[in-house]
Amino acid sequence: MFSGISINEFREKFKTEQDCLKYILDKKLAGGYSCLKCQGNQYGKGRKWNYLRCKKCGYDASATAGTLFHKCKLGLLKAFEMAFRVSVRKKGMSSCELSKEFGCQQRSAWLWKAKIQEAMKSSGKHPLSGAVEVDEFLLGGFSEGERGRTHGSKDLVVLAIEKVKDKKGKITIGRA
Ligand SMILES: [Zn+2]
Repeated sequence: MFSGISINEFREKFKTEQDCLKYILDKKLAGGYSCLKCQGNQYGKGRKWNYLRCKKCGYDASATAGTLFHKCKLGLLKAFEMAFRVSVRKKGMSSCELSKEFGCQQRSAWLWKAKIQEAMKSSGKHPLSGAVEVDEFLLGGFSEGERGRTHGSKDLVVLAIEKVKDKKGKITIGRA
């Protein structure tokens, strides 16, 4: 039996690209705004609702900028759901299964899965040093009938916001 959040509840929460964007935006702002270019912490409206413009340097960035979701070719909905699927299952899903289920190329599925797993790893026992933020949210125990899961246990679903500075101070995504 399912307990806690199920895939259906997850889908209820994230129905559109907007839901995903809003979620990312809220999470980013909850951690405090920091401009990707100048680290300014004041922002105003950007060119669209999901954009924030730095008051100091004027850099206008979308909600996904500086996150693993930036320029993710899968689209946010698929990317979110894949993150959910990969992170709630103990054994995970193979990139082949993912690509079939989500109708994408296996390579895309593989790349995305690797990113999610990296983010999960870095959020746990091996925190990355430097300007890295990993945003985690806990979803109630999703048991999928597996043994050994206690009622109400939490599964960690990680939506990572990783900012890594290179030597020139330019912020790139990923590990340095
Ligand atoms: Zn700025």
